[in-house]
Amino acid sequence: MMGCSNPHPHGQIWATSTVPNEPRKEQESFLAYQEQHGACLLCDYIKLEASGERLVYANDHFIALVPFWAIWPYEILVVSKRHLGSMSTLTDEARLAQADILKCVSSRYDNLFQTSCPYSMGFHQQPTDDEEHNEWHFHAHFYPPLLRSASVRKFMVGFEMLGSPQRDITPEYAAERLRQAEVKTAK
Ligand SMILES: [Zn+2]
Ligand SMILES: [Zn+2]
Repeated sequence: MMGCSNPHPHGQIWATSTVPNEPRKEQESFLAYQEQHGACLLCDYIKLEASGERLVYANDHFIALVPFWAIWPYEILVVSKRHLGSMSTLTDEARLAQADILKCVSSRYDNLFQTSCPYSMGFHQQPTDDEEHNEWHFHAHFYPPLLRSASVRKFMVGFEMLGSPQRDITPEYAAERLRQAEVKTAK
């Protein structure tokens, strides 16, 4: 876990009376894209990435990829292949597929850095007001801070803090390394 003195895993559920900045920016983009193209931004995006060099792993229900806009070296976006607004509408089969892809992603991080890799991960889902929010597409973000090894991490400082984030490695290279870090489990 990041941001604590004693490493430990924990989860939190945040529910706020207003939509926080990150999902609000996404909501604006979902709405703008829908208005402009009559389609869903993430449905169209995962079609572009489905067999591409930024793909890390996919199962029948989810896809994991390093998005082209990633700023953390091994950032991963996990997206439902089906258009749905929140995990509450996942089928039983899709729920198992979600568990599978989360495990596959976190194990790849551990393998890649040969350590219990720290990361922040979260789900973004539709607001829970009375609106339908058909524009929303359920997804998750993984933000691990490591760059070169278990002890060499990325710092978002200097120009990055005052100007804009810089990439240390390309998303294509990150995806390739993560594909290679596949977990070989004994059957
Ligand atoms: Zn969609
Ligand atoms: Zn998001």
